[in-house]
Amino acid sequence: MKIAVPKEIKNHEYRVALTPSGARELVARGHSVAVQSGAGEGAGFPDASYEAAGASLEAKVDTLWRDAELILKVKEPQAEEVARLAAGQTLFTYLHLAAEEMLTRGLMASGATCIAYETITDRQGGLPLLAPMSTVAGRMAVQAGAHCLEKAQGGAGVLLPGVPGVAPGKVAVIGGGVVGENAARMALGLGAEVTVLDKSIERLEVLDDRYQGRMKTVFSTADALDQVVRESDLIVGAVLIPGAAAPKLITRAMLADMKPGSVLVDVAIDQGGCFETSRATTHADPTYIVDGIVHYCVANMPGAVAQTSTLALTNATMPFVIALADKGWQQALANDAHFLPGLNVHDGQVTYRAVAEAFGLES
Ligand code: NAD
Repeated sequence: MKIAVPKEIKNHEYRVALTPSGARELVARGHSVAVQSGAGEGAGFPDASYEAAGASLEAKVDTLWRDAELILKVKEPQAEEVARLAAGQTLFTYLHLAAEEMLTRGLMASGATCIAYETITDRQGGLPLLAPMSTVAGRMAVQAGAHCLEKAQGGAGVLLPGVPGVAPGKVAVIGGGVVGENAARMALGLGAEVTVLDKSIERLEVLDDRYQGRMKTVFSTADALDQVVRESDLIVGAVLIPGAAAPKLITRAMLADMKPGSVLVDVAIDQGGCFETSRATTHADPTYIVDGIVHYCVANMPGAVAQTSTLALTNATMPFVIALADKGWQQALANDAHFLPGLNVHDGQVTYRAVAEAFGLES
C-alpha cells in the first residue's frame, strides 16, 4: 500500500504520525512509505533517519497527498489538507469531529474514508489511542505546576518536596483517571503530600490498592473540594465526563479561600476546563493570574514534549496502521470490533453516531 506521512501544519504541532522505526516495519512488510521532508524534524527524527529506514522523502506536498492510499497524521486535517483529500483515500488521525461541524462536512465532501484515533476502544472499555496522551499530560501537569509555584512565575515560592525540617507541599488531583493517576504518581515521586478526589469509588479503590495508601483518596463532594481548596499548594483538574463539557468544580468565589500564590493546572481545559476561571492558553504564554492564583491551562500539553509524545502515540497506533496497510480498511475494521468504532466518515456519510447526532445528520 502507498502510505503518506505529511508534516503537521497546525500551529505549534511538532509531533509526527510515524517514526523511522515504524516506517522500517511497514517497508519490511512490502509497503511504500513517503514522508514529507521535515515531517519528523520537530520530534527529533531528521529526514535521513526515514531514508535509512527505507522510506522515500517527498518535498512536494501536493504529490505526497495525491499519490497516497493511506494518509497518517496526528492532528485533525486543516482546511488546506481537507481540500487535498480524495475519494478512495483513507485518513487515520485524531479527528475530534463532534465539536467541528465544518471539518465534518469537509471530510464528508471529500469522499474519503476517515478513521479517528480517539474513538477506537479496547477490551477494558478504555480509549487506547487517547490514553498515551493523557499519560503525558498527567505527568507534565505536576512538572508544570511545580514550576508555577516558583516566585518568578507568580507562585507562592513553595518547593513541593520540602526539605529536611520543612514539610512538603500539598497536591490535590481532581479526577483519578489516566491523567489524574499519572499526575498523582508524579507528585508522589516528588515527595509531595497527595490527595486524589474522584466520583468513582471503583477508581479510588484501584488507586488505594495500587499505591498502598501512599496517596489519600477522597470521594469528590462539594465539602471535600472546599477543604482541598483551602489546603492545597497545587490543584490539578483532571475530570472527564465522556461526551460532555467538564463541570466547573472550583468557582471564582472559591479562589478567595486558596492560599495566595497557589496554582491551578487545568488539564481538562480541552473539554472547557473544570475551574470557572480557566481559559485556554498556549505553550508560548501558558499562565495567567486571577485573584492571586496562578492558572496553567494549556490545551495541547503533549505538544511541548513532541519526542516523547510521538513515541508514545505511535507505539499505540502502529498495530492499527499495520492492520490498515496489510489488509485494507474494510478487512481491518471488519476483523476488529474495537477498531470499527474508529470509522467516523466514509463515502460522504458520517458513520459514528455521536458525531452524526451532534449535527443532525444520518449515520
Ligand atoms: P478519564 O476518563 O481516564 O478520567 C476522568 C476521571 O474523572 C474519571 O475517573 C471520572 O470518574 C472522574 N470524574 C468525573 N467527574 C468528576 C467529578 N465531578 N469529580 C471528581 N472526579 C470526576 O479521563 P482522562 O484521560 O484522565 O482525561 C481527563 C481530562 O484531561 C479530559 O478532559 C481530557 O480530554 C483531558 N486531556 C487534556 C490534555 C491537554 O493537553 N490539556 C491532554 C490529554 C487529556
